[in-house]
Amino acid sequence: MKLQFCITIFFVLSFSLSVFSQIKDPKMTEVWEPVVRKVDPGNINTAPSDATVLFDGKNLDAWQHFRGEPIGWKLEDGAMTVVKGKGNIYSKRKFGDCQLHLEFRIPNEVEGEGQDNGNSGVFLQEKYEVQVLGSHDSETYSNGQCGAIYKQYIPLVNASRPKMAWQTYDIIFKAPVFNEDGIRVSPGYLTVLHNGVLIQNHVQIQGTSEYIGMPKNIKHEKGAIVLQDHGNPVSYRNIWIREL
Ligand code: MG
Repeated sequence: MKLQFCITIFFVLSFSLSVFSQIKDPKMTEVWEPVVRKVDPGNINTAPSDATVLFDGKNLDAWQHFRGEPIGWKLEDGAMTVVKGKGNIYSKRKFGDCQLHLEFRIPNEVEGEGQDNGNSGVFLQEKYEVQVLGSHDSETYSNGQCGAIYKQYIPLVNASRPKMAWQTYDIIFKAPVFNEDGIRVSPGYLTVLHNGVLIQNHVQIQGTSEYIGMPKNIKHEKGAIVLQDHGNPVSYRNIWIREL
């Protein structure tokens, strides 16, 4: 039986090798189908043609506060700015795996140093925070500075620009998957480019972003993109998203 098995394997391998060794025409390894769909990438200030624009500077229609109240943040000069105490804002649409682009600006007037220096944040699915903070000229704990996956991953480098300079985030998010029993069967992942510089390289999300305590993994469906009101007048503009 064992001998038969070995002989079978031998012939299968020999056949495979002979087939591959016969591929001498480069055209045999060209793949023409499917044809790749064209997307107009736009220019540096516009969204690609297949993106959903969440904020183009004209209105806040795509956003709401937690209980569906209209936005209390300030809309001015093509940007929206946190108004202290009005609360986080939520995209009306909910998303799973996605590519998210946005620009943010740390204000001159800040509450203080460290975590009070232009603090805001971008939450994927309302739970996983990419920190927004003025980290160009202010120190804080490394896993809480700008570009950190809050209290989970330190950014690879500090690519921050100074206060009042517009900065970009390009975030690629793979959502965690839960089975019907509520057990996480596949973790989530985040990749982040800050001002075009890779600062988070496909890191495995440990669970929810928690100020105190350990990350949690509780079953959830798609969720909103959330921008954080941390009491500082951080501004945002040019926000678009592509579902993956
Ligand atoms: Mg924050």
